[in-house]
Amino acid sequence: MPRPIQATIHLQGLRHNLARVRRAAPDARVWAVVKANAYGHGIERVFDGLRGADGFALLDLAEAQRVRDLGWRGPVLLLEGAFELRDLELCSRLDLWHTVHCDAQIDMLAAHKTNVPHRVFLKMNSGMNRLGFAPNQYRSAWTRLNALPQVDEISLMTHFSDADGPKGVADPMAVFAAVTRDLPGERTLSNSAATLRYASTQTDAAPEPWVTSDWVRPGIAVYGSAPDFPEHSAADWDLQPTMTLAAKIIAVQAIPAGATVGYGSNFVAEHPMRIGVVACGYADGYPRICPTGTPVLVDGVRTRTVGRVSMDMITVDLGSLPYSGPGSEVILWGRAAHGALLPIDEVARSAGTVGYELMCALAPRVPVEVAD
Ligand SMILES: *Cc1c(COP(=O)(O)O)cnc(C)c1O
Repeated sequence: MPRPIQATIHLQGLRHNLARVRRAAPDARVWAVVKANAYGHGIERVFDGLRGADGFALLDLAEAQRVRDLGWRGPVLLLEGAFELRDLELCSRLDLWHTVHCDAQIDMLAAHKTNVPHRVFLKMNSGMNRLGFAPNQYRSAWTRLNALPQVDEISLMTHFSDADGPKGVADPMAVFAAVTRDLPGERTLSNSAATLRYASTQTDAAPEPWVTSDWVRPGIAVYGSAPDFPEHSAADWDLQPTMTLAAKIIAVQAIPAGATVGYGSNFVAEHPMRIGVVACGYADGYPRICPTGTPVLVDGVRTRTVGRVSMDMITVDLGSLPYSGPGSEVILWGRAAHGALLPIDEVARSAGTVGYELMCALAPRVPVEVAD
């Protein structure tokens, strides 16, 4: 028998979340962001759930090739653009749209031999200070690009540093709007947080309608995690889980008060306990840093981890689950067989991180099935 651990990708959840994003930004086209192998889900596995998107955005050329290999003929956007000159050959061959965020990328385009001019997305650094032209250099970059025969259409792009937090998007929006006001071209600004938080609250005052138009770039919302947890949960945003990590109990220990559990003996039982040993550990992608008390579902009922996460196992408290034992279903995150949910965001918070990181870290050794 294979080791009893399994991840499931939920196509219905992907479709639901994509539709949810569309509701938030009804006038925009939607890039489904599938970088990092679709946030750990697998590009090939999510494709059927996301084929209703208007385009796919990612940053790895091999991943762009995989999207084309799946038969996708629509837009594909490279979010970081070309890394070296020969990347542009693949852009020409696969008809990829690409970000231009620095002068070196304009130089590459100028040196690129192509019969087919490229569609590019000129990126402004509106305060994140990672990629993009500073506002005062943006227009000269636009002018340089616009003069190149290798360039067809120029779209305008930025990425918010604080769409999920209290700073919000007003300042970068104002900068972007001022600099680009009279430039032609489509705009794309919003990730999941900006799309969900600012699209539905548009007022005359702020923010600008450009927050959502012409294209939005949701990633994490499509994968059913709240971009601004814990301020909002996935349920608050009407997002459904798209990845379940499930395992089974493979052993039970009945321990007396004073006994310890796991490496380092760092959990001490205060009273007699039943401990379930679960076939999932950090080598499966479950964060080792999760402390005692991290939520899990056993047979659909919420309980907690106890003791250290080890490579292949975790240990859970079966105190409230007298009928659970070897073979019982354990949900590390996602959806239980009978519908109970354990949001990935809650486990992530316990680990001091975000749902993104847990999804992306699902280990290759975990078998994955795709469910409708
Ligand atoms: C990853 C990424 C996104 C998607 O962000 P989410 O927070 O997952 O919605 C959007 N735009 C760019 C440029 C990105 O790199």
